[in-house]
Amino acid sequence: MIFICDAMLGKLARYLRMLGLDAPYIRQGETVLSSPKEPAHTLVFTKSTAKAGRPGTILVHNNDPQEQVLEVKKYIEPYVDPDAFMTRCMECNVQLIEVRKEDIESFVPEYIYHHHDEFRTCPSCHKVYWEGSHADEMHLWLKEFLQKTLNSEA
Ligand SMILES: [Zn+2]
Repeated sequence: MIFICDAMLGKLARYLRMLGLDAPYIRQGETVLSSPKEPAHTLVFTKSTAKAGRPGTILVHNNDPQEQVLEVKKYIEPYVDPDAFMTRCMECNVQLIEVRKEDIESFVPEYIYHHHDEFRTCPSCHKVYWEGSHADEMHLWLKEFLQKTLNSEA
């Protein structure tokens, strides 16, 4: 499933990517594929009321990105896989690849290098990720979101 995020939903796209979801971001002026080959596998999240009536298009009301994640939760929930958490580049929406620790030594702070064993890198922008590289509010919030989501299923 592909979750296209329309203009003004760039932050939502980053949150979805952190969850491991395929979430391309369409900037203002760019057009969303008008006839995707497999429309059943594509959802468009938009803030544009003009586009809201189109098939497979969901109008997002909230402006706060965390509220937006909650708002689209019912659409993304079936596709959320805890094992996919942090497997996608937040900037490029590309699947990260696992790298040998030795290969990224010069790209991460020494302290990080010595305290972590698993590293991933983005084949597109070459940003290096590790557990804790997103240890910010967004990361913690999403971890909690995942836990709640899983618990509510059980
Ligand atoms: Zn990247």
